[in-house]
Amino acid sequence: MSSWEKNIRKVVPYTPGEQPKRRDIIKLNTNENPYPPAPGVQKILEEYNSEELRLYPDACVSELVDTLAQYYGVESDSVFVGVGSDDVLAMCFLTFFNSDKPVFFPDITYSFYDVWAELFRIEYDMKPLSDDFRIVKEDYMAPNGGIIFPNPNAPTGVLMDVSDIEDIIKANSDSVVIIDEAYIDFGGVSVLPLVSKYDNLLVVRTYSKSRSMAGSRIGFAIGDKKLIKYLNDCKYSFNSYTMDSLTIKLGAASIKDEKYFVDTLDRIIKTREWTKGELKRLGFEFPDSKSNFVFATHKTKSAEEIFEKLKEKGIYVRFFKKPRIDNYLRITIGTDEEMKKLVKELEKLC
Ligand code: PMP
Repeated sequence: MSSWEKNIRKVVPYTPGEQPKRRDIIKLNTNENPYPPAPGVQKILEEYNSEELRLYPDACVSELVDTLAQYYGVESDSVFVGVGSDDVLAMCFLTFFNSDKPVFFPDITYSFYDVWAELFRIEYDMKPLSDDFRIVKEDYMAPNGGIIFPNPNAPTGVLMDVSDIEDIIKANSDSVVIIDEAYIDFGGVSVLPLVSKYDNLLVVRTYSKSRSMAGSRIGFAIGDKKLIKYLNDCKYSFNSYTMDSLTIKLGAASIKDEKYFVDTLDRIIKTREWTKGELKRLGFEFPDSKSNFVFATHKTKSAEEIFEKLKEKGIYVRFFKKPRIDNYLRITIGTDEEMKKLVKELEKLC
């Protein structure tokens, strides 16, 4: 080891799902939306004048912040935006989790949480999910330096009741509780109405799944204006111009196309319910999912084997070689046609 290496901040990075260069595959491995963004987004792209790139973007991202605030019925100073919810969540870890007590999150959850905790040297304690992959709310009632979990949880897809989450928020008035609602639009009930009641609750959302805009990298958080102020203080101490001027416009345009948004969600939910029936018929078991993916295990076939065989056929799903979940596959809901092709291959394999 070179002598300078001992002073390096060493981290084991998050491993994102594969993004193969090949276009002829069925891509069900990163929970992207199979449908295009709203037509209003395409219109902005066509009309955009590159002259706008000459100037720095609006550091306050007012156009997008105001649009989101109006849509969700909150004040603009209750909204924070970032480059994907990963950026928002990383800023949350940096801003809110500075206690000498550990931050709590589930043992099976979004695998970026422990990476940020390690990066920022935050102590954490992973609370085991129950055998049926439920978050045990009592585990989150001990002294802690903050709480974070997705609802629905990922990669399980399991939704927690708002009343149970409210119990956790109430019991933790000394710490910030972050609910990562990346997948809430696919049929879950949001805790967003609780942000006016609890100043320690922050709700984080993304455009990557329900708004078909993973490539634009837009995420946002809604919470008490004091939380948002602290987040912005950290953001402006790190990088003021995170969102580019085109993306700001695209984000605002997507919000204005409500009908397209609702119709797309309906289609995905219908396809998900059809897929669940087919997977059951083929001998798969899974917790009920309220997201745009199903987390399934087969009664007799190994998940790793199915994963490899599907890949050979050009169908990519996600397999996590991790304790407790190494016999499960996370299957993103694609179009009807894609799911029919998946089922056809699974019929041969299982
Ligand atoms: N939270 C959860 C639970 C996720 O699964 C993801 C997707 N990887 C994210 C946050 C981040 O999404 P993005 O950065 O694309 O907004």
